[in-house]
Amino acid sequence: MTTILLVEDDPALRRALRTMMRSRDLHVLDVATGQDAVVVASGGTPDLMVLDLGLPDIDGLEVLRRVRAFSAMPVIVLTAHHRQSEKIRALDAGADDYVTKPFDTEELLARVRATLRRVPQSNPVPTLVQVDDVEIDLARRRVTLDGTPVHLTRTELALLELLVSHPGKLLTQEFLLREVWGQGYGSESNYLRVYVGQLRKKLGDDAAHPRLILTEPGIGYRWIAGEEDPA
Ligand code: CA
Repeated sequence: MTTILLVEDDPALRRALRTMMRSRDLHVLDVATGQDAVVVASGGTPDLMVLDLGLPDIDGLEVLRRVRAFSAMPVIVLTAHHRQSEKIRALDAGADDYVTKPFDTEELLARVRATLRRVPQSNPVPTLVQVDDVEIDLARRRVTLDGTPVHLTRTELALLELLVSHPGKLLTQEFLLREVWGQGYGSESNYLRVYVGQLRKKLGDDAAHPRLILTEPGIGYRWIAGEEDPA
């Protein structure tokens, strides 16, 4: 049975989420404070943590940092809709995904399922990734579209490798810029837009109806190939 650590200080919301999760055969450990969240997480039982960022004692981001110091378990954060920068900080601090309040409980469950599905894949990523007519050979650094080699620049290839090796995971602009361009490029999101646009064009992807790379406006990008419900 999958165990969810639910961290939410609002008693009504906590109860509603607990009931809903239990009705889907999830085992739920629920706590109302950051302090308790760290204690329960350190016990090693939970498979995934749903973490409200607005907690009464320790800031949710700090809880995330403390838990990340000893655990790689997937974390989905709950944030208020006007707190865009908080979402980005949480993703950069190691959250796997976020859900904006107020949210539909089904949406949260879908995120929980999608995140849990990715966990076994986060070990070795297959070196050969095939999506319809696109073939990406990470070991040989070769990409073909419908059997024809696609010429990618080093930057495009580096970006593609990062996306492909984190299937389904929302990667922030800052993370991608730092990894591909290096320290000091964390805010050059226009670079990213240009390079992602080129990648899409070369791989036959369409930003309006993506099958490979999904844009999360203002936040980052997600490799969605093979995901059942990328939403
Ligand atoms: Ca709260």
